[in-house]
Amino acid sequence: MLDRRRFLAFTAAGATAAVLPRFAFGQEKPFTLPPLGYPYEALEPHIDAQTMNIHHTRHHQAYVNNANAAVERWPELAKMKIEDVLRDLSKAPEAVRTAIRNNVGGHWNHTFFWDLMTPGGAKEPQGDLKAAIDQSFGGLDKMKERMNQAGAGRFGSGWAWLVVGKDGKLDVISTANQDTPLELGVRSTVLGVDVWEHAYYLKYQNRRPDYLSAWWNTVNWDKASANFAKKG
Ligand code: MN
Repeated sequence: MLDRRRFLAFTAAGATAAVLPRFAFGQEKPFTLPPLGYPYEALEPHIDAQTMNIHHTRHHQAYVNNANAAVERWPELAKMKIEDVLRDLSKAPEAVRTAIRNNVGGHWNHTFFWDLMTPGGAKEPQGDLKAAIDQSFGGLDKMKERMNQAGAGRFGSGWAWLVVGKDGKLDVISTANQDTPLELGVRSTVLGVDVWEHAYYLKYQNRRPDYLSAWWNTVNWDKASANFAKKG
């Protein structure tokens, strides 16, 4: 079973990796792969260990590597907060903008995603988040249905998200590829699920809706509530 102290240490590292100032130590690469807050097998049977391992150590690592390569082409990137870069991609030179959108975006999305999952978490949201979901969607099941539809309906690769929109209300949206909700001007991102085939294909093959149904069992509702509380 998960050692609590190790879990907390990993969680703390994962949660701060995306926002710490980079180049703090001269030789280090500005972007680094955050450790998971749980072992690869922890989300079984909903998400299998092999998928988690490959997704983290190969796919996410590739986004990190490519983001570091983008820094060599645009050093300013290393000095900026990731969220600020992604909120306004027009700041990036055109020659490197697509690389940043895909790879810094991929790094942010995956860091968010790993932190949003946990073994043995609460089955449903509590408090303010629960109240807002009830008010906006008419209940948790209806919100899940909207997310599942957004994820299943995303053609090709992308993400489904629960966000607090510009109007301060909860909304379900979908983005393509590694585009983030940040560039859409959302106030906060509450939930997000990766619907790229690499997130589910080994276990679920073409059955994306089955993966989406199972994924809800992994959600860290405490983290989702913390994300929701950041609004405004
Ligand atoms: Mn992915």
